[in-house]
Amino acid sequence: MSKAHAPKAAKSQPINGSPEQNAYMDDITKQFTIDTEKLIAIKDHFIVEMEKGLSKEKQTMVMIPSYVEGRLTGQEQGHYLALDLGGTNLRVVLVTLEGHGKFKTVSTKARVSEELKTGSMRDLCEYIADCIDTFLTEQNLENVDEDLALGFTFSFPVLQSKINRGIQTAWTKGFNCTGAVGKDPVLLLQDALLRKHVPVKITALVNDTVGTLLSNAYQKPETVAGLILGTGSNGAYVEQMTNIKKWKDGATTSHEMVINTEFGAFDNERVMLPVTRFDNKLDRKSINPHFQIFEKLISGMYLGEIVRNVITDMMDRNLLFCQPGQNTDIISGHYQFETSFMSAIESDDSPDLATVRETLDTNLNLIKVDDVELRIVKRICELVGTRAARLAAAAIAGIAIHTKVDRKGADIGIDGSLYEFYPSFEDRIYDGMAELMPDFADDIQNIVRLGLARDGSGVGAALTACVADKMFKSK
Ligand code: ADP
Ligand code: MG
Repeated sequence: MSKAHAPKAAKSQPINGSPEQNAYMDDITKQFTIDTEKLIAIKDHFIVEMEKGLSKEKQTMVMIPSYVEGRLTGQEQGHYLALDLGGTNLRVVLVTLEGHGKFKTVSTKARVSEELKTGSMRDLCEYIADCIDTFLTEQNLENVDEDLALGFTFSFPVLQSKINRGIQTAWTKGFNCTGAVGKDPVLLLQDALLRKHVPVKITALVNDTVGTLLSNAYQKPETVAGLILGTGSNGAYVEQMTNIKKWKDGATTSHEMVINTEFGAFDNERVMLPVTRFDNKLDRKSINPHFQIFEKLISGMYLGEIVRNVITDMMDRNLLFCQPGQNTDIISGHYQFETSFMSAIESDDSPDLATVRETLDTNLNLIKVDDVELRIVKRICELVGTRAARLAAAAIAGIAIHTKVDRKGADIGIDGSLYEFYPSFEDRIYDGMAELMPDFADDIQNIVRLGLARDGSGVGAALTACVADKMFKSK
């Protein structure tokens, strides 16, 4: 039998504010807290939704077959280019696979401006082609004899029809370019590369979760899933072909295929998730209202804004930052409270909360802040951050249970700044998983082994180009 799991995630100081402040905090604590029973119900619903998506088209969780068949051995070798588009940055990576699970990378990063994110797809593709061109020149690769093979990590919903073909079905995470949905992003980008005479051939189209899974698997062969916890949230895992009831594309070279769950859309119907008025406010003002609700409760793009929605609601009720002369101009602006502030605030365990004070002062120009207010802000971050990590735990446990992870255990690669930098995020995920998988609670960290797959999405694209090679050769 399993021992009781002792939660690791820290608890904060009592608020000790005015009766009104305390009552407000008690109320939102109830709203943001997901107890074990509720978390189990969410996890169970998650598994049901996975199975629905595997059996039929057009379900809430789309469960997209990636056309990546089988796994890697870690012995693959060669040079591959990777391109990663899907969040805050655009990355171009040159990956050299050395075998024995080892690889080297050289990369460059460019920011994608708001203008490009919401302009025309043609402009976006030309910008990307220019970035690749510049990188090749820097790496002295502009005059190669043969086109370089590139794996394209395109982290938006795409219905794939081959390893290097697919139709984009939607934009997410703040992107909304015209002339893209309904088209194949590979062809659009390949056209731009041809127009600019860049010697690159796109050989694989890959979601960042799939790339993360593959790059983790190259180093850890027991890998069953890859997750992104960054700007957005999503996951991919290795499925048995026999479980993919909707599959109609005939024989494959392997009995397994990687599935991109698109779990960010989980429970868009809102029958299960404990959505608060603060989440609804964020959703209504987002560029994709009603969609990606699970993602909006979990990921880096949104968590800071949920915290800000609570803070401004308290301001409206004269419960926070209401001293005469307080400057609330910045905190009143949309998306001005970044998720990275939550990391800084939650990392502060000092009695006087000096880092919380400094974060509010430096970034938001909030100067007349008393100790109660510091504790309130920290508690709000803790509530929103803990809920996010517990929901991520429901998704991971759902995948682990569905794939029948046993005591031998399995590896899960995770890429994304939220997972990498947010203190306690990982501990809170383990706490949640221990509640959801009670038989493994005594040793959860060695059974469902989470690990950082830094830049997994970039490296993974190169590895997908490599898998594409293997598949073409074995067919
Ligand atoms: P992407 O998902 O675009 O590939 P990242 O994995 O770097 O990129 O994730 C960026 C997201 O992570 C942003 O939404 C940002 O708010 C969030 N983020 C960046 N730094 C931190 C941090 N220190 N703590 C928590 N979240 C962070
Ligand atoms: Mg990324």
